[in-house]
Amino acid sequence: ENVLLSVKDLKRHFEVGQGSTLRAVDGISFEIFKGETFGLVGESGCGKSTAGRTILGLYNRTEGDVLFEEKNVHEMNDKERKNYLKKMQMIFQDPYASLNPRSTVLEIIAEPMEIHKLYNSKKEVKERVYELLEDVGLNRDHANRYPHEFSGGQRQRIGIARALALDPEFIIADEPISALDVSVQAQVVKLLQRLQKEKGLTYLFIAHDLSMVKYISDRIGVMYLGHMVELTTSSQLYDSPLHPYTQALLSAIPIPDPDIEESRQRIILQGELPSPINPPSGCVFRTRCPHAMAICSEKKPIWQEQEPGHFVACHLYN
Ligand code: SF4
Ligand code: MG
Repeated sequence: ENVLLSVKDLKRHFEVGQGSTLRAVDGISFEIFKGETFGLVGESGCGKSTAGRTILGLYNRTEGDVLFEEKNVHEMNDKERKNYLKKMQMIFQDPYASLNPRSTVLEIIAEPMEIHKLYNSKKEVKERVYELLEDVGLNRDHANRYPHEFSGGQRQRIGIARALALDPEFIIADEPISALDVSVQAQVVKLLQRLQKEKGLTYLFIAHDLSMVKYISDRIGVMYLGHMVELTTSSQLYDSPLHPYTQALLSAIPIPDPDIEESRQRIILQGELPSPINPPSGCVFRTRCPHAMAICSEKKPIWQEQEPGHFVACHLYN
């Protein structure tokens, strides 16, 4: 496979005062292949957004490396960085908060093109904006309106059009549908899938549960408290999850078939997500793991490839 992005033992810590360190991302490794959708899943506070922002270069890394097309993202010169920020775009959870309420849709979508001086005339920019609006299922009549005039789903479409303005290769979508009504979620997902096909995009799709992600991702990484605990293909993860945390996440997805749903056992996790300022020793999941053993508090489980392409960090498999 053609590796587009490579994340190597990436850490992003924040100093939070009184000598305390918040270990938001604490050593994650994975690769993203060109043209795939890679799902990054974990409950809120697990570090997935911080991981996304560090990959984008919005945050410096504390340790480790992020390579895009084999170039180190955190060691790029100004010109390389500018080029990288053209190829990488982000779609946010709350399209409303990320769209300037005082700008028209035209201005919002045109802004990145103007920053990067992509076109010579206002007319060219306008034509391109109309094209982008059509790409995302809106039209040119929407161009002179303001964000508040649109529904949540339409606003997310505007956010997507803006992200596409620079003709990117890679899009980090940080919970792009979790703020939308369920009926609208599927439409936005379909749009993202169509755009991926048409434009050859690669996605990092961040989500807090597996319900939608397992349908749209080629591969999935599961994060817990700053760590990656399991990574494999969607179907493998769904059919034979190895990590107890993945098993719990999967058991929380309702199954439409009532016969199966009735006979199914939900795994209810005990306790709260621990603080990333003071994570448990050994395995970070041990305070909530139904299978925790003595070794789990003593030794950090290693990240290892259990079967081809299927990685897990858990003492059950060491
Ligand atoms: Fe549970 Fe131990 Fe595996 Fe951690 S290493 S997930 S505590 S069994
Ligand atoms: Mg987040």
